[in-house]
Amino acid sequence: MILFLAFDRVRRFDVFQTRTKMARSLLANRLARLVDVGVFCRVEYQKRPVRHEYRLTPMGLDLFGASLMIIRWEKLWFPDPEAPIHWLEHACGNVFLPELRCSACDREVVARDVVAEDGPGAGFDPPQMPRVQRRSRVARIDPDPHEKMLERALEVIGDRWITHTIASAFTGVRRFGAFQSELGVAPNILSERLARLIDLGIFERQRYQEKPERFEYRLTPVGRDLFPLIVELIRWGDRWLATDKGPPQILTHRPCGQPLVPRITCDHCHEVVTVTSTRIG
Ligand SMILES: [Zn+2]
Ligand SMILES: [Zn+2]
Repeated sequence: MILFLAFDRVRRFDVFQTRTKMARSLLANRLARLVDVGVFCRVEYQKRPVRHEYRLTPMGLDLFGASLMIIRWEKLWFPDPEAPIHWLEHACGNVFLPELRCSACDREVVARDVVAEDGPGAGFDPPQMPRVQRRSRVARIDPDPHEKMLERALEVIGDRWITHTIASAFTGVRRFGAFQSELGVAPNILSERLARLIDLGIFERQRYQEKPERFEYRLTPVGRDLFPLIVELIRWGDRWLATDKGPPQILTHRPCGQPLVPRITCDHCHEVVTVTSTRIG
């Protein structure tokens, strides 16, 4: 939520506070974390008394692509005319849907067309154990209806554990035991999270054995369509967080055989979408 407001050119603590309705202490804590990780920088804008504002760094601005992919997903699957974010306008004058396309062949990027292989940086920074006990509380904040937006997407990417589970599903994991060994979590916690993902419409349960009865968990079309968002998050991570060894994964676009270099375009004019060429209507 803070990032979306920052893209909407909000910079000051009080404006973030009024628009998110977060408790001041929580907001201060989140902003400090965003400064720590390099997404925001604090800039003094007044001397007496000293006041700071929060500006996106180049690394923070580069999250715009992932934010557009969140908007795309929500708009496609959970359209809500009341939410301002669904009225995102492009410089061409149209309310638009951002699309993730391959720079080489211009096709829209979908999960089944992309192959992942280990890259030079693979294995140097193993994923951290999900912090199950510190589950995101994003969904509990009750924002102003005017700011109502993106609750599902925020739950998906605001919870590291849920993101890991979805990412595992994209690599072909389907069965309870396989998720458990991939993610290293207790069975009761895994059951709870899988149930939540089913509630969210991201996973569905399918029986694959009768006696004893066994189920597997598959991404629904809604879940599979999170792929462009995951691609954008990977691209951002590769650009800003990869080690000197290079990216941990190389993605190849099967239809054209080229390394996947995504770009985000407008579904009306097909031009590339940037933070300066969009406006929340
Ligand atoms: Zn391609
Ligand atoms: Zn356009």
